[in-house]
Amino acid sequence: MTRHDVPGCFIGGAPVVGTGERHAVVNPANGERVAEFALATSAEVEAAVASARAAAPEWAKATPAERAGVLGRLAALVLAHADELVAEEVAQAGKPRRLAAEFDIPGSADNLAFFAGAARLLEGKASAEYSGGHTSSIRREPVGVVGTIAPWNYPLQMAVWKVAPALAAGCAVVIKPSELTPLTTLRLAELAVAAGLPAGVLNVVTGTGADAGEALSGHPGVDVVTFTGSTAVGRKVMASAAKRGARVQLELGGKAPFVVFEDADLEAAVHGAVAGALINSGQDCTAAARAIVAESVYEDFVAGVAELMEKVVQGDPLGDGVDIGPQISFAHRDRVAQIVQRAKAEGARVAAGGFAPDLPGAFYRPTLLADVAEDSEAYRAEIFGPVLTARAHKGDDDAIRQANDTEYGLAASVWTKDIYRAQRASREIRAGCVWVNDHIPIISEMPHGGFGASGFGKDLSAYSLEEYLAVKHVMSEITGESKKGWHRTIFALR
Ligand code: NAD
Repeated sequence: MTRHDVPGCFIGGAPVVGTGERHAVVNPANGERVAEFALATSAEVEAAVASARAAAPEWAKATPAERAGVLGRLAALVLAHADELVAEEVAQAGKPRRLAAEFDIPGSADNLAFFAGAARLLEGKASAEYSGGHTSSIRREPVGVVGTIAPWNYPLQMAVWKVAPALAAGCAVVIKPSELTPLTTLRLAELAVAAGLPAGVLNVVTGTGADAGEALSGHPGVDVVTFTGSTAVGRKVMASAAKRGARVQLELGGKAPFVVFEDADLEAAVHGAVAGALINSGQDCTAAARAIVAESVYEDFVAGVAELMEKVVQGDPLGDGVDIGPQISFAHRDRVAQIVQRAKAEGARVAAGGFAPDLPGAFYRPTLLADVAEDSEAYRAEIFGPVLTARAHKGDDDAIRQANDTEYGLAASVWTKDIYRAQRASREIRAGCVWVNDHIPIISEMPHGGFGASGFGKDLSAYSLEEYLAVKHVMSEITGESKKGWHRTIFALR
Protein backbone atom coordinates (compact mmCIF):
# COMPACT_ATOMS: atom_id res chain seq x y z
CA MET A 1 0.00 0.00 0.00
CA THR A 2 1.40 3.38 -0.90
CA ARG A 3 0.96 6.12 1.66
CA HIS A 4 0.18 8.63 -1.07
CA ASP A 5 0.29 9.01 -4.80
CA VAL A 6 2.36 12.12 -5.49
CA PRO A 7 2.98 14.07 -8.64
CA GLY A 8 6.76 13.81 -8.97
CA CYS A 9 7.23 17.31 -10.39
CA PHE A 10 6.40 20.87 -9.45
CA ILE A 11 6.55 23.24 -12.42
CA GLY A 12 5.31 26.80 -12.80
CA GLY A 13 3.93 26.87 -9.26
CA ALA A 14 1.84 23.70 -9.55
CA PRO A 15 2.21 19.94 -9.15
CA VAL A 16 2.83 18.15 -12.45
CA VAL A 17 2.70 14.44 -13.23
CA GLY A 18 5.77 13.13 -15.08
CA THR A 19 5.55 11.34 -18.42
CA GLY A 20 8.08 8.62 -17.52
CA GLU A 21 7.76 5.19 -15.94
CA ARG A 22 6.04 4.61 -12.60
CA HIS A 23 8.45 4.65 -9.70
CA ALA A 24 8.12 3.84 -6.00
CA VAL A 25 9.84 5.48 -3.04
CA VAL A 26 10.71 2.62 -0.70
CA ASN A 27 11.42 2.87 3.02
CA PRO A 28 14.80 1.14 3.41
CA ALA A 29 14.06 0.33 7.06
CA ASN A 30 11.22 -2.05 6.22
CA GLY A 31 10.79 -2.26 2.43
CA GLU A 32 7.39 -0.53 2.49
CA ARG A 33 6.35 1.57 -0.48
CA VAL A 34 6.05 5.11 0.79
CA ALA A 35 4.95 6.89 -2.37
CA GLU A 36 4.47 6.29 -6.05
CA PHE A 37 4.76 8.63 -8.99
CA ALA A 38 5.64 8.83 -12.68
CA LEU A 39 9.24 9.84 -13.28
CA ALA A 40 10.13 13.08 -15.02
CA THR A 41 11.71 12.80 -18.46
CA SER A 42 13.36 15.36 -20.70
CA ALA A 43 9.84 16.66 -21.50
CA GLU A 44 9.32 17.83 -17.90
CA VAL A 45 12.88 19.19 -17.76
CA GLU A 46 12.06 21.21 -20.89
CA ALA A 47 8.90 22.59 -19.29
CA ALA A 48 10.65 23.34 -15.99
CA VAL A 49 13.55 25.19 -17.64
CA ALA A 50 11.07 27.20 -19.75
CA SER A 51 9.12 28.04 -16.62
CA ALA A 52 12.30 29.13 -14.79
CA ARG A 53 13.47 31.22 -17.76
CA ALA A 54 10.12 32.98 -17.91
CA ALA A 55 10.10 33.70 -14.16
CA ALA A 56 13.77 34.65 -13.79
CA PRO A 57 13.71 38.30 -14.99
CA GLU A 58 11.00 39.41 -12.54
CA TRP A 59 12.61 37.58 -9.61
CA ALA A 60 15.96 39.15 -10.51
CA LYS A 61 14.26 42.54 -10.16
CA ALA A 62 12.75 41.76 -6.74
CA THR A 63 14.41 43.93 -4.10
CA PRO A 64 16.76 42.26 -1.62
CA ALA A 65 14.13 42.93 1.05
CA GLU A 66 11.47 41.14 -1.01
CA ARG A 67 13.72 38.11 -1.53
CA ALA A 68 14.59 38.15 2.16
CA GLY A 69 10.89 38.24 3.03
CA VAL A 70 10.15 35.10 1.01
CA LEU A 71 13.13 33.18 2.43
CA GLY A 72 12.28 34.23 5.99
CA ARG A 73 8.66 33.13 5.61
CA LEU A 74 9.83 29.86 4.03
CA ALA A 75 12.12 29.22 7.03
CA ALA A 76 9.14 29.74 9.33
CA LEU A 77 6.93 27.45 7.23
CA VAL A 78 9.54 24.69 7.31
CA LEU A 79 9.51 24.87 11.10
CA ALA A 80 5.70 25.03 11.20
CA HIS A 81 5.57 21.84 9.06
CA ALA A 82 8.47 20.19 10.88
CA ASP A 83 6.49 17.13 12.06
CA GLU A 84 5.31 16.29 8.57
CA LEU A 85 8.76 16.92 7.03
CA VAL A 86 10.41 14.76 9.69
CA ALA A 87 7.94 11.94 8.99
CA GLU A 88 8.65 12.11 5.25
CA GLU A 89 12.42 12.26 5.70
CA VAL A 90 12.31 9.25 8.03
CA ALA A 91 10.06 7.27 5.68
CA GLN A 92 11.96 7.91 2.45
CA ALA A 93 15.56 7.79 3.76
CA GLY A 94 15.22 5.47 6.78
CA LYS A 95 16.77 8.08 9.08
CA PRO A 96 16.23 7.81 12.81
CA ARG A 97 13.54 10.31 13.79
CA ARG A 98 15.96 11.94 16.25
CA LEU A 99 18.36 12.84 13.44
CA ALA A 100 15.65 14.24 11.18
CA ALA A 101 14.03 16.19 14.02
CA GLU A 102 17.22 17.58 15.56
CA PHE A 103 19.41 18.04 12.48
CA ASP A 104 17.82 17.78 9.00
CA ILE A 105 14.73 19.91 9.46
CA PRO A 106 15.96 22.61 11.90
CA GLY A 107 19.23 22.79 9.94
CA SER A 108 17.27 23.45 6.75
CA ALA A 109 15.17 26.16 8.42
CA ASP A 110 18.27 27.82 9.88
CA ASN A 111 19.94 27.82 6.48
CA LEU A 112 16.90 29.48 4.88
CA ALA A 113 16.86 32.07 7.67
CA PHE A 114 20.57 32.76 7.14
CA PHE A 115 20.05 33.39 3.41
CA ALA A 116 17.10 35.65 4.17
CA GLY A 117 19.67 37.91 5.86
CA ALA A 118 22.41 37.31 3.29
CA ALA A 119 20.06 38.40 0.47
CA ARG A 120 20.35 41.92 1.86
CA LEU A 121 24.12 41.91 2.16
CA LEU A 122 25.44 41.46 -1.36
CA GLU A 123 28.58 43.52 -0.90
CA GLY A 124 31.02 44.63 -3.59
CA LYS A 125 34.03 46.91 -3.93
CA ALA A 126 33.55 50.61 -3.33
CA SER A 127 32.67 52.71 -6.36
CA ALA A 128 35.63 54.95 -7.15
CA GLU A 129 37.44 56.90 -9.87
CA TYR A 130 40.20 54.34 -10.41
CA SER A 131 41.18 55.82 -13.81
CA GLY A 132 40.69 59.40 -12.70
CA GLY A 133 38.24 60.10 -15.51
CA HIS A 134 35.64 57.43 -14.89
CA THR A 135 33.54 56.22 -12.02
CA SER A 136 33.79 52.44 -11.69
CA SER A 137 31.18 50.47 -9.84
CA ILE A 138 30.42 46.81 -9.35
CA ARG A 139 27.05 45.22 -9.98
CA ARG A 140 26.47 41.69 -8.72
CA GLU A 141 23.78 40.20 -10.88
CA PRO A 142 21.97 36.86 -10.66
CA VAL A 143 23.43 34.36 -13.15
CA GLY A 144 19.93 33.47 -14.38
CA VAL A 145 18.61 29.91 -14.33
CA VAL A 146 20.22 27.38 -12.01
CA GLY A 147 19.98 23.63 -12.61
CA THR A 148 20.58 21.76 -9.37
CA ILE A 149 21.07 18.01 -8.94
CA ALA A 150 20.86 16.60 -5.42
CA PRO A 151 21.67 13.31 -3.64
CA TRP A 152 19.56 11.15 -1.31
CA ASN A 153 21.49 11.33 1.95
CA TYR A 154 20.07 14.56 3.42
CA PRO A 155 17.23 15.20 0.95
CA LEU A 156 15.82 18.46 2.33
CA GLN A 157 19.13 19.92 3.51
CA MET A 158 20.92 19.22 0.25
CA ALA A 159 18.06 20.91 -1.64
CA VAL A 160 18.07 23.93 0.67
CA TRP A 161 21.87 24.34 0.51
CA LYS A 162 21.51 25.07 -3.22
CA VAL A 163 18.06 26.61 -3.46
CA ALA A 164 18.42 29.17 -0.63
CA PRO A 165 21.54 30.99 -1.91
CA ALA A 166 20.24 30.80 -5.49
CA LEU A 167 16.96 32.48 -4.51
CA ALA A 168 18.79 35.00 -2.31
CA ALA A 169 20.95 35.95 -5.30
CA GLY A 170 17.86 36.42 -7.49
CA CYS A 171 18.11 33.27 -9.63
CA ALA A 172 15.35 30.92 -10.75
CA VAL A 173 15.91 27.21 -10.07
CA VAL A 174 15.14 23.80 -11.50
CA ILE A 175 16.09 21.09 -9.01
CA LYS A 176 16.30 17.37 -9.64
CA PRO A 177 16.19 15.50 -6.34
CA SER A 178 17.27 11.88 -6.15
CA GLU A 179 14.38 9.73 -7.32
CA LEU A 180 14.89 7.70 -4.13
CA THR A 181 14.02 10.66 -1.87
CA PRO A 182 12.01 13.44 -3.58
CA LEU A 183 9.20 13.97 -1.08
CA THR A 184 10.58 16.78 1.10
CA THR A 185 11.97 18.68 -1.91
CA LEU A 186 8.51 18.62 -3.53
CA ARG A 187 7.05 19.89 -0.25
CA LEU A 188 9.71 22.63 -0.09
CA ALA A 189 8.59 23.94 -3.49
CA GLU A 190 4.94 24.03 -2.38
CA LEU A 191 5.87 25.82 0.83
CA ALA A 192 7.96 28.33 -1.14
CA VAL A 193 4.89 29.34 -3.13
CA ALA A 194 2.93 29.65 0.14
CA ALA A 195 5.77 31.89 1.39
CA GLY A 196 5.20 34.22 -1.58
CA LEU A 197 7.76 32.95 -4.11
CA PRO A 198 6.40 33.74 -7.59
CA ALA A 199 5.29 30.71 -9.61
CA GLY A 200 8.06 29.30 -11.81
CA VAL A 201 10.99 30.56 -9.73
CA LEU A 202 11.45 27.14 -8.08
CA ASN A 203 10.70 23.99 -10.08
CA VAL A 204 11.22 20.34 -9.20
CA VAL A 205 11.70 17.48 -11.68
CA THR A 206 12.03 14.03 -10.15
CA GLY A 207 13.59 11.64 -12.59
CA THR A 208 16.58 9.38 -12.89
CA GLY A 209 20.10 10.72 -13.32
CA ALA A 210 20.51 9.17 -16.75
CA ASP A 211 17.30 10.77 -18.00
CA ALA A 212 16.19 13.95 -16.19
CA GLY A 213 19.66 14.56 -14.69
CA GLU A 214 21.45 14.51 -18.02
CA ALA A 215 18.68 16.55 -19.66
CA LEU A 216 19.08 19.21 -16.96
CA SER A 217 22.89 19.41 -16.87
CA GLY A 218 23.01 19.55 -20.68
CA HIS A 219 20.17 22.03 -21.17
CA PRO A 220 21.18 25.22 -23.01
CA GLY A 221 18.66 27.19 -20.94
CA VAL A 222 20.56 26.45 -17.72
CA ASP A 223 23.20 29.07 -16.90
CA VAL A 224 24.88 27.35 -13.95
CA VAL A 225 24.74 23.73 -12.81
CA THR A 226 25.21 23.08 -9.09
CA PHE A 227 25.63 19.47 -8.08
CA THR A 228 25.95 17.41 -4.93
CA GLY A 229 26.74 13.74 -5.33
CA SER A 230 29.48 11.31 -6.17
CA THR A 231 32.74 12.31 -7.82
CA ALA A 232 32.12 10.08 -10.84
CA VAL A 233 28.72 11.59 -11.61
CA GLY A 234 29.95 15.12 -10.80
CA ARG A 235 32.58 14.78 -13.49
CA LYS A 236 29.94 13.68 -16.02
CA VAL A 237 27.82 16.68 -15.09
CA MET A 238 30.81 18.96 -15.53
CA ALA A 239 31.58 17.50 -18.95
CA SER A 240 27.98 18.01 -20.01
CA ALA A 241 27.95 21.65 -18.83
CA ALA A 242 31.35 22.24 -20.46
CA LYS A 243 29.90 21.49 -23.90
CA ARG A 244 28.13 24.84 -23.77
CA GLY A 245 30.59 26.57 -21.42
CA ALA A 246 28.14 26.75 -18.52
CA ARG A 247 29.38 27.35 -14.99
CA VAL A 248 29.39 24.47 -12.52
CA GLN A 249 29.75 24.02 -8.79
CA LEU A 250 30.50 20.52 -7.51
CA GLU A 251 30.12 19.13 -3.97
CA LEU A 252 31.43 15.59 -4.31
CA GLY A 253 32.60 12.65 -2.28
CA GLY A 254 34.92 12.54 0.72
CA LYS A 255 37.11 10.21 2.76
CA ALA A 256 37.76 12.32 5.83
CA PRO A 257 40.88 11.68 7.90
CA PHE A 258 40.40 11.68 11.68
CA VAL A 259 43.88 12.32 13.07
CA VAL A 260 44.55 11.49 16.72
CA PHE A 261 47.82 12.65 18.26
CA GLU A 262 49.40 11.01 21.31
CA ASP A 263 48.42 13.89 23.62
CA ALA A 264 44.70 13.85 22.62
CA ASP A 265 41.88 13.43 25.10
CA LEU A 266 41.32 9.79 24.12
CA GLU A 267 37.80 9.55 25.51
CA ALA A 268 36.80 12.61 23.45
CA ALA A 269 38.46 11.14 20.35
CA VAL A 270 36.70 7.78 20.81
CA HIS A 271 33.28 9.41 21.20
CA GLY A 272 34.02 11.80 18.34
CA ALA A 273 35.04 8.93 16.06
CA VAL A 274 31.88 6.93 16.71
CA ALA A 275 29.57 9.93 16.24
CA GLY A 276 31.58 11.19 13.27
CA ALA A 277 31.64 7.83 11.50
CA LEU A 278 28.04 6.82 12.15
CA ILE A 279 26.08 10.00 11.52
CA ASN A 280 23.30 9.25 9.04
CA SER A 281 24.44 5.59 9.07
CA GLY A 282 27.78 6.74 7.69
CA GLN A 283 26.09 8.16 4.58
CA ASP A 284 27.66 11.56 5.01
CA CYS A 285 30.28 13.09 2.73
CA THR A 286 32.21 14.50 5.71
CA ALA A 287 31.91 11.36 7.90
CA ALA A 288 35.04 10.26 9.73
CA ALA A 289 36.39 7.54 7.44
CA ARG A 290 40.11 7.12 8.13
CA ALA A 291 41.24 7.18 11.77
CA ILE A 292 44.99 7.86 11.77
CA VAL A 293 46.09 7.34 15.34
CA ALA A 294 49.40 7.75 17.21
CA GLU A 295 51.05 4.34 17.74
CA SER A 296 51.20 4.81 21.51
CA VAL A 297 47.41 5.15 21.87
CA TYR A 298 46.32 3.14 18.80
CA GLU A 299 45.24 -0.08 20.55
CA ASP A 300 43.37 1.86 23.27
CA PHE A 301 41.60 3.87 20.57
CA VAL A 302 40.61 0.72 18.64
CA ALA A 303 39.33 -0.97 21.80
CA GLY A 304 37.39 2.15 22.87
CA VAL A 305 35.73 2.68 19.48
CA ALA A 306 34.89 -1.03 19.14
CA GLU A 307 33.29 -1.10 22.60
CA LEU A 308 31.18 1.98 21.87
CA MET A 309 30.17 0.76 18.41
CA GLU A 310 28.87 -2.49 19.92
CA LYS A 311 26.46 -0.42 22.04
CA VAL A 312 24.91 1.41 19.08
CA VAL A 313 21.21 0.53 18.75
CA GLN A 314 19.72 -0.20 15.32
CA GLY A 315 16.12 -0.84 14.44
CA ASP A 316 12.89 0.90 13.47
CA PRO A 317 13.91 4.53 12.82
CA LEU A 318 10.73 5.65 14.58
CA GLY A 319 11.82 3.95 17.80
CA ASP A 320 12.96 6.41 20.48
CA GLY A 321 16.05 4.47 21.50
CA VAL A 322 17.30 3.86 17.96
CA ASP A 323 20.65 5.43 17.13
CA ILE A 324 21.21 4.65 13.49
CA GLY A 325 19.01 3.51 10.65
CA PRO A 326 19.57 1.36 7.58
CA GLN A 327 21.55 2.11 4.44
CA ILE A 328 19.54 3.80 1.70
CA SER A 329 18.91 0.52 -0.16
CA PHE A 330 19.73 -3.18 -0.10
CA ALA A 331 21.99 -2.68 -3.11
CA HIS A 332 24.00 -0.05 -1.25
CA ARG A 333 24.11 -2.18 1.91
CA ASP A 334 25.45 -5.11 -0.11
CA ARG A 335 28.15 -2.90 -1.65
CA VAL A 336 29.26 -1.83 1.84
CA ALA A 337 29.30 -5.48 2.99
CA GLN A 338 31.41 -6.51 -0.01
CA ILE A 339 34.01 -3.81 0.63
CA VAL A 340 34.30 -5.01 4.26
CA GLN A 341 34.63 -8.64 3.09
CA ARG A 342 37.41 -7.75 0.68
CA ALA A 343 39.23 -5.74 3.36
CA LYS A 344 39.02 -8.75 5.70
CA ALA A 345 40.39 -11.03 2.99
CA GLU A 346 43.29 -8.61 2.56
CA GLY A 347 44.17 -8.81 6.26
CA ALA A 348 42.22 -6.00 7.94
CA ARG A 349 41.15 -6.74 11.53
CA VAL A 350 37.38 -6.44 12.06
CA ALA A 351 37.35 -4.94 15.55
CA ALA A 352 33.59 -4.29 15.55
CA GLY A 353 30.62 -5.18 13.36
CA GLY A 354 31.36 -6.49 9.90
CA PHE A 355 27.94 -8.05 9.28
CA ALA A 356 24.31 -7.28 8.48
CA PRO A 357 22.13 -7.69 11.59
CA ASP A 358 18.97 -9.78 11.58
CA LEU A 359 16.57 -6.91 10.90
CA PRO A 360 14.02 -6.47 8.11
CA GLY A 361 15.65 -3.43 6.44
CA ALA A 362 18.93 -2.63 4.68
CA PHE A 363 20.90 -2.47 7.94
CA TYR A 364 24.62 -2.95 8.42
CA ARG A 365 26.31 -3.03 11.80
CA PRO A 366 28.72 -0.22 12.78
CA THR A 367 32.11 -1.54 11.71
CA LEU A 368 35.68 -0.78 12.69
CA LEU A 369 38.36 -2.06 10.32
CA ALA A 370 41.71 -1.82 12.09
CA ASP A 371 45.13 -2.21 10.43
CA VAL A 372 43.81 -1.62 6.91
CA ALA A 373 46.47 -1.58 4.22
CA GLU A 374 47.31 1.83 2.84
CA ASP A 375 46.61 0.71 -0.71
CA SER A 376 43.37 -1.15 0.12
CA GLU A 377 40.00 -0.27 -1.36
CA ALA A 378 38.51 0.16 2.13
CA TYR A 379 41.09 2.81 2.92
CA ARG A 380 40.96 4.57 -0.47
CA ALA A 381 37.37 4.43 -1.76
CA GLU A 382 34.40 6.28 -0.33
CA ILE A 383 32.37 3.53 1.39
CA PHE A 384 29.46 5.79 2.44
CA GLY A 385 28.40 3.34 5.13
CA PRO A 386 28.91 2.88 8.91
CA VAL A 387 32.51 1.80 8.47
CA LEU A 388 35.55 3.44 10.06
CA THR A 389 39.03 2.32 9.07
CA ALA A 390 42.01 2.74 11.40
CA ARG A 391 45.77 2.89 10.96
CA ALA A 392 48.60 3.87 13.28
CA HIS A 393 50.90 6.83 12.62
CA LYS A 394 54.50 7.34 13.71
CA GLY A 395 54.41 11.04 14.58
CA ASP A 396 53.28 14.39 13.22
CA ASP A 397 54.92 14.20 9.78
CA ASP A 398 53.59 10.70 9.15
CA ALA A 399 50.11 11.67 10.43
CA ILE A 400 49.86 14.60 8.05
CA ARG A 401 51.28 12.56 5.18
CA GLN A 402 48.64 9.86 5.71
CA ALA A 403 45.87 12.43 6.10
CA ASN A 404 46.77 13.95 2.73
CA ASP A 405 47.29 10.61 1.00
CA THR A 406 43.89 10.69 -0.73
CA GLU A 407 42.41 12.21 -3.86
CA TYR A 408 39.58 13.65 -1.73
CA GLY A 409 39.70 16.83 0.33
CA LEU A 410 36.33 17.63 1.81
CA ALA A 411 36.79 17.51 5.60
CA ALA A 412 39.24 16.38 8.27
CA SER A 413 39.65 16.52 12.02
CA VAL A 414 42.64 16.66 14.34
CA TRP A 415 42.62 15.67 17.99
CA THR A 416 45.27 17.18 20.28
CA LYS A 417 45.68 19.49 23.26
CA ASP A 418 48.77 21.11 21.74
CA ILE A 419 47.83 24.35 20.01
CA TYR A 420 50.92 24.38 17.77
CA ARG A 421 50.27 20.85 16.60
CA ALA A 422 46.62 21.73 15.92
CA GLN A 423 47.62 24.80 13.96
CA ARG A 424 50.24 22.98 11.90
CA ALA A 425 47.83 20.14 11.09
CA SER A 426 44.98 22.50 10.18
CA ARG A 427 47.34 24.45 7.93
CA GLU A 428 48.86 21.44 6.19
CA ILE A 429 45.90 19.10 5.76
CA ARG A 430 44.28 19.73 2.39
CA ALA A 431 40.54 19.81 3.01
CA GLY A 432 37.73 22.33 2.78
CA CYS A 433 37.10 22.07 6.53
CA VAL A 434 39.39 21.05 9.39
CA TRP A 435 37.83 20.53 12.81
CA VAL A 436 40.01 20.67 15.90
CA ASN A 437 38.84 18.31 18.66
CA ASP A 438 35.49 17.64 17.01
CA HIS A 439 34.14 16.17 13.79
CA ILE A 440 30.90 16.95 11.90
CA PRO A 441 29.36 20.20 13.32
CA ILE A 442 28.19 22.40 10.50
CA ILE A 443 26.86 25.94 10.57
CA SER A 444 25.05 28.15 8.08
CA GLU A 445 27.53 31.02 8.46
CA MET A 446 30.64 29.07 7.37
CA PRO A 447 31.42 27.56 3.95
CA HIS A 448 31.26 23.88 3.06
CA GLY A 449 33.06 22.59 -0.01
CA GLY A 450 35.99 20.48 -1.07
CA PHE A 451 39.43 20.42 -2.58
CA GLY A 452 40.65 17.95 -5.21
CA ALA A 453 38.26 15.11 -6.08
CA SER A 454 35.77 16.50 -3.54
CA GLY A 455 34.89 19.27 -5.99
CA PHE A 456 35.02 23.03 -5.96
CA GLY A 457 32.83 25.94 -5.03
CA LYS A 458 30.98 26.37 -1.77
CA ASP A 459 27.66 25.61 -0.15
CA LEU A 460 26.52 27.50 2.96
CA SER A 461 27.70 30.95 4.09
CA ALA A 462 28.05 34.15 2.09
CA TYR A 463 30.70 32.38 -0.03
CA SER A 464 28.01 30.22 -1.64
CA LEU A 465 26.27 33.32 -3.03
CA GLU A 466 29.23 33.70 -5.38
CA GLU A 467 28.12 30.55 -7.22
CA TYR A 468 24.89 32.28 -8.19
CA LEU A 469 26.13 35.78 -8.98
CA ALA A 470 27.96 37.32 -11.92
CA VAL A 471 30.18 40.31 -11.26
CA LYS A 472 29.75 43.19 -13.69
CA HIS A 473 31.98 46.25 -13.89
CA VAL A 474 30.19 49.47 -14.92
CA MET A 475 32.63 52.22 -15.97
CA SER A 476 31.09 55.67 -16.55
CA GLU A 477 33.08 58.49 -18.14
CA ILE A 478 32.78 61.58 -15.95
CA THR A 479 34.66 64.39 -17.73
CA GLY A 480 32.12 64.89 -20.48
CA GLU A 481 34.96 65.63 -22.95
CA SER A 482 34.39 64.67 -26.59
CA LYS A 483 38.09 63.99 -27.20
CA LYS A 484 39.40 61.80 -24.39
CA GLY A 485 43.01 62.09 -23.40
CA TRP A 486 43.67 58.37 -23.93
CA HIS A 487 42.59 58.57 -27.61
CA ARG A 488 46.03 60.02 -28.31
CA THR A 489 47.52 56.59 -27.75
CA ILE A 490 45.51 55.27 -30.69
CA PHE A 491 45.52 58.22 -33.07
CA ALA A 492 47.00 61.73 -32.88
CA LEU A 493 44.16 64.15 -32.18
CA ARG A 494 43.44 66.77 -34.85
P1 NAD B 1 25.10 10.14 -7.15
O1 NAD B 1 26.26 10.83 -7.73
O2 NAD B 1 24.84 8.75 -7.53
O3 NAD B 1 23.76 10.94 -7.52
C1 NAD B 1 23.61 12.30 -7.21
C2 NAD B 1 22.53 12.88 -8.10
O4 NAD B 1 23.00 12.84 -9.45
C3 NAD B 1 21.21 12.11 -8.08
O5 NAD B 1 20.14 13.02 -8.15
C4 NAD B 1 21.29 11.28 -9.36
O6 NAD B 1 20.03 10.94 -9.88
C5 NAD B 1 22.01 12.26 -10.27
N1 NAD B 1 22.67 11.64 -11.43
C6 NAD B 1 23.14 10.36 -11.57
N2 NAD B 1 23.68 10.21 -12.80
C7 NAD B 1 23.58 11.39 -13.44
C8 NAD B 1 23.98 11.87 -14.71
N3 NAD B 1 24.60 11.07 -15.59
N4 NAD B 1 23.74 13.15 -15.04
C9 NAD B 1 23.13 13.98 -14.17
N5 NAD B 1 22.72 13.59 -12.93
C10 NAD B 1 22.94 12.32 -12.58
O7 NAD B 1 25.21 10.32 -5.58
P2 NAD B 1 24.25 9.74 -4.44
O8 NAD B 1 24.48 8.26 -4.37
O9 NAD B 1 22.86 10.24 -4.64
O10 NAD B 1 24.85 10.46 -3.14
C11 NAD B 1 25.99 10.01 -2.51
C12 NAD B 1 27.19 10.81 -2.96
O11 NAD B 1 26.96 12.20 -2.72
C13 NAD B 1 28.44 10.48 -2.17
O12 NAD B 1 29.55 10.38 -3.04
C14 NAD B 1 28.60 11.67 -1.24
O13 NAD B 1 29.91 11.89 -0.80
C15 NAD B 1 28.09 12.77 -2.08
N6 NAD B 1 27.69 13.92 -1.26
C16 NAD B 1 28.52 15.02 -1.23
C17 NAD B 1 28.19 16.11 -0.44
C18 NAD B 1 29.07 17.32 -0.39
O14 NAD B 1 28.63 18.33 0.12
N7 NAD B 1 30.29 17.27 -0.89
C19 NAD B 1 27.02 16.07 0.32
C20 NAD B 1 26.21 14.95 0.26
C21 NAD B 1 26.56 13.87 -0.54
